[in-house]
Amino acid sequence: MSEQKLKIISRGYGIADRFEDGTIELNRHLDKYPELKRALIQHEVKHTNNPKLNKHDFIHDLSTQDQIRTWDMIRFMVRHPFSLVQFLPLYYTKERGLVKDKNLMVIYSFFLVIGVIAIYFGVRV
Ligand SMILES: [Zn+2]
Repeated sequence: MSEQKLKIISRGYGIADRFEDGTIELNRHLDKYPELKRALIQHEVKHTNNPKLNKHDFIHDLSTQDQIRTWDMIRFMVRHPFSLVQFLPLYYTKERGLVKDKNLMVIYSFFLVIGVIAIYFGVRV
């Protein structure tokens, strides 16, 4: 993989995202959680800049925990509820327009299909 120029900027919502221009956006409240911030940067650095759905980024989101401690993450989300924007499959910002998280869309679709199948069989039993 070639060296990629990365830039880190702060914002007031979500948790952490990697964009196709190589920018990593982090919730500015993460400054108070240096351990969590470091783990999240490590996670985002390992993403690609590819905005399209791809195996590398998808597997990375599903498999790597990058020392992100679940409890730290939950505590952060409870104290900073705007971080929950991270779990929207798409959102809109003035700077970036419509931001889509394709990995999340796939994961949610998967659960939707499982749900529909479960309801289908539930109704039939
Ligand atoms: Zn990720």
